[in-house]
Amino acid sequence: MVEGRGRFRLSRRLLLGGAVALGGLAWSGVTLARLARSPAAPKSLGRVADADGMALALDAPATLPPHDPDLPWLAKGGDMNDASALSRTPVYGVVGVTEEAHVARALAFARENGLQVSMSAVRHSMGGQAFDDHALVLDMTGFDRIAVDEAARTVTVQPGATWHRIQNALHPRLAVKAMQSSDIFSVGGSISVNAHGMDHRAGSVAGTIRSMRVMLADGTVLTVSRTENADLFRHVVGGYGLFGVVLSATLDVTDNAVYRTSRAIIRSEAFPATFAREIDPEGGPALFYGHLSTAPGNFLDDMIVYRYDAVDGVPAETIPPLAEPGSVGLKRLILNLAKHGDLFQRFKWFAESRLEHAFEACTVPRTAAMGEGEACLVSRNDPMHDSVPYLFNDLQDETDVLHEYFVPRAAYDAFIAGARDVLARHDLPVLNASVRVVHQEDIALNYAPEPAFSLVLYINQRADAEGTRRMRALTRDMIDLALKHGGRFFLPYQLHFTTAQLRASYPELPVFLRSKLAYDPGELFTSTFYRAVKAMAFDAPLPGPA
Ligand SMILES: Cc1cc2nc3c(=O)[nH]c(=O)nc-3n(C[C@H](O)[C@H](O)[C@H](O)COP(=O)(O)OP(=O)(O)OC[C@H]3O[C@@H](n4cnc5c(N)ncnc54)[C@H](O)[C@@H]3O)c2cc1C
Repeated sequence: MVEGRGRFRLSRRLLLGGAVALGGLAWSGVTLARLARSPAAPKSLGRVADADGMALALDAPATLPPHDPDLPWLAKGGDMNDASALSRTPVYGVVGVTEEAHVARALAFARENGLQVSMSAVRHSMGGQAFDDHALVLDMTGFDRIAVDEAARTVTVQPGATWHRIQNALHPRLAVKAMQSSDIFSVGGSISVNAHGMDHRAGSVAGTIRSMRVMLADGTVLTVSRTENADLFRHVVGGYGLFGVVLSATLDVTDNAVYRTSRAIIRSEAFPATFAREIDPEGGPALFYGHLSTAPGNFLDDMIVYRYDAVDGVPAETIPPLAEPGSVGLKRLILNLAKHGDLFQRFKWFAESRLEHAFEACTVPRTAAMGEGEACLVSRNDPMHDSVPYLFNDLQDETDVLHEYFVPRAAYDAFIAGARDVLARHDLPVLNASVRVVHQEDIALNYAPEPAFSLVLYINQRADAEGTRRMRALTRDMIDLALKHGGRFFLPYQLHFTTAQLRASYPELPVFLRSKLAYDPGELFTSTFYRAVKAMAFDAPLPGPA
């Protein structure tokens, strides 16, 4: 009897234990599947309500004109959001531009009806740079033809063309010269922020533009370059769509060279010396990427330096077609797990530093590279052909936002030491930290008035008021740190900066905005970003054109 009851108790415990274990397994399975799942649709999680205390939402005008039946509307009314998922904004309508004539007609329609116009492309800006309340939005993504001129070593593209499609058109002989470190972005969006990436020799997109055609607010079309309409060129590049619509751009391209990949783990503070000794000099790598550890106990301490060194003698015919990124679900899972505490952050760094290279895809057959033995060979287009699908997820109560801070090269070590403190104090999950090399730029609104190193951070936040409060506080401390070291912050991201920080980072902003009014006196081109920075730039209401 007693024995029987004991057995019964035992089996009840067993049953209970089994149920808990099964439940745990099922929960883990469901959770892991959720973390690995690709998004069903782009996220739209709300709107950050203000920029430095200024309310961003505008009341709808009492009356809005009927939509021009001769324009190809993708949406009449509705709202738009960007990659932050926190910029949901009601718009008048969205025109799906596929022809230059659509741009001309839409601008004329807007002028005649008192509407304002924004340009939007892949919408990976994160603070309303690509649309505004009740604006007519030109969606440029369908305006994307590409023409390669092998003899001139250029590509002429319409602005909605993405680097991904351009690489497909250039491969296997040619490659993009300067772009971001991933390829999802449009050329128009990249020119408008003066993007930069893995090629530390080519520098930013600005340096690769031979010329552009730009439509001004009054419908005039001008060719602009460093020598023709040079002032307008300096304002359109890095001009956030405020001066005119880029209709096409002719860009320098380069050989799709074959590279031998290698990597070394160094201490972060050794980076400036490593750069000066091994990366910068002639004969150093053609591309490089500096990836910092975000694991606790090693936070921004160790850095993986990925190098891509040119290898001669590999015929272009042996370069295989471009492949799409693999192991997307696994990569997304590892990234999303890293939001859940130290253990997973440690695992992520372990995978990056110890496992990843074992799975590296050597896309050029070794036999094709004379005398290269066991080296891993890729063509230039391979590491640049990453559309980062693993960054996008289906997690509806959170979002991941990008930051970038530029500091003079001599200030790098002190800045990274300060960043370690700021990020530890704010304790939001840092999912990725990388270091870029930036050249001195010569554009009107300039993130790099002198050669710089930059720190790029990808940080997770909850998509609620508390998440925004915490991200804002972190951003402001990071900007203060950059300013303390003579640096600046990058403008395509969230509008969390204060007025004082904006003015200190971009002292040329008032002059830039006066030029905007000279080229666009009726302020036809607008965005939420424009309204915010304009209000912050001047003590008094914005004066008229200088
Ligand atoms: C995950 C991630 C990684 C990133 N990595 C990098 C990086 O490595 N290097 C870097 O420099 N930046 C990086 N960025 C920032 C990115 O370069 C910018 O946000 C860029 O603008 C994105 O291009 P887009 O096509 O999404 O442009 P959108 O966000 O759609 O537009 C950006 C701006 O361009 C304007 N615009 C678009 N088309 C035109 C046109 N035809 N004429 C005039 N203006 C136009 C818009 O009005 C807007 O002001 C990254 C951003 C994210 C989210």
